[in-house]
Amino acid sequence: MNQPSYLWTPSPVYSLPVRGSEKRLPIHRLFFVGRNYHAHAVEMGRPVDKSVERPFYFTKDPSTLTPSGATVAYPPETSNYHFEMELLVAIGKEGFRIAADRAHEYIYGYACGLDMTRRDLQLVARDKGRPWDLGKDVEQSSVASEIVPMQGQVLDAGAIELSVNGQVKQQSDLNKLIWNLREILADLSLFYHLQPGDLIYTGTPEGVGAVSPGDRITGRIEGVGEIALTVGERS
Ligand code: MN
Repeated sequence: MNQPSYLWTPSPVYSLPVRGSEKRLPIHRLFFVGRNYHAHAVEMGRPVDKSVERPFYFTKDPSTLTPSGATVAYPPETSNYHFEMELLVAIGKEGFRIAADRAHEYIYGYACGLDMTRRDLQLVARDKGRPWDLGKDVEQSSVASEIVPMQGQVLDAGAIELSVNGQVKQQSDLNKLIWNLREILADLSLFYHLQPGDLIYTGTPEGVGAVSPGDRITGRIEGVGEIALTVGERS
């Protein structure tokens, strides 16, 4: 069969290394849960009442995926570029309308993630009722560590923390997620047919803040691993 020919080189397959494997995990989509720790929702001025609210999501293009250890340019059109340390779930199996008590069957593994955010632009968008893309779908903003295979395991607890230049900024526990992993997979799969290679950034705890060129971000999640990012010069 003839291979199609293209005007220019098509986008690559974005992927992450997998601990203990020669094979990389190919990425399909990047989903992000908004406001999933109470103390962070409060610091953003938008407390969550789980009894009357559902989780909400935004997405980023897979081209924003950036490996742990990278140096990224300080992005354009912001003066308030924020870190958000997050647990990242990798989906390993196709699923639609997943029952919460079967959610573990769809989990391939976990990683540490950073949801880097042009906070100034995100808040303008939020307050004007506009889409969040300019604040969130930032080039090089979806940072991820290697994937740690943990098929069938649901992480319910474990320390999550982030430091900038060695100073602790975020410190919480996965047991403080407003919507836990089973609830997120059940809810998100009402809207999307989840696919192998979908990554879900599960939300950040309190303590988010701005970085400057030259800053070194490090983070860790108990039982998962570590992540690092260096912020480079303004692009
Ligand atoms: Mn986030």
